[in-house]
Amino acid sequence: MPAIRTVAVFCGSRPGRSPLWRAAATALGEGLGRAGLHLVFGGGRIGLMGAVADAALAAGGRVTGVIPDFLQQWEVAHQGVSELIVTDSMHSRKRRMFELSDAFVSFPGGLGTFDETFEILTWKQLRLHDKPVLICDIDGSAAALCGLIEGAIADGFAPPEAGGFFETVASVPALLARLAELGTVPGGAAALL
Ligand code: AMP
Repeated sequence: MPAIRTVAVFCGSRPGRSPLWRAAATALGEGLGRAGLHLVFGGGRIGLMGAVADAALAAGGRVTGVIPDFLQQWEVAHQGVSELIVTDSMHSRKRRMFELSDAFVSFPGGLGTFDETFEILTWKQLRLHDKPVLICDIDGSAAALCGLIEGAIADGFAPPEAGGFFETVASVPALLARLAELGTVPGGAAALL
C-alpha cells in the first residue's frame, strides 16, 4: 500500500442541520493539517467543505481546491487555499481529485458527496485503483449510504466483497488514527502538482 500523503475529502457544500457535523469538519481539517497531510477538496468556501479547508489552513496544512470553472461562482471558490485548480468540467474535477489523492474520506454531505463517494467505490469495484476509502459516520450521517450498499449486496446486485471496498469510522479521532495505521507520511505531494 503506497504511503498516504494526500487525502481527498468529499463533504457537503451545505453545513447540514446538526452542529456536530460542522464541529467534526473543523476537527478533521485541524487533524489533517496537524498531521502534515495535504488536503484535496472541492474548492468551495461554503458548508462543511469550507470548514474542513479553513481548519486545515489554520493548522498550517497544505490545501488544494479543485473546482470546475462553472461552479466557481456558485460554490464561492475559496481564495485562501494553497492552490486552486480550476477544471473545465465536473468529470475532470473528479479525475484530478482522484489522481492527486492517496486516500479518500467521505464525510457528511448531500447528493454531490454521495456521487463522489460512489464513483470512487465503483472505480475500486472495477479495479481501477486500490486506494483506501474511509466513510465517516458522524452521528448516523452515513447510515443511509452504507445501508444502500448493504442492500445491494443482500439483493445480489453488488458482490459480497463490496463491503470491503471501504471502512466505516465513527469519529474524527478514529478516522485520523486509521489513516495513521494505514501509513501516513507528512509533507504533502508537492511533486504531483
Ligand atoms: P453536496 O454534497 O451536494 O453538497 O456536494 C458536495 C460536492 O459535490 C460539491 O463540491 C459539489 O460541487 C459536488 N457535486 C454536486 N453535485 C455533483 C454531481 N452531480 N456530481 C459530482 N459532484 C457533485
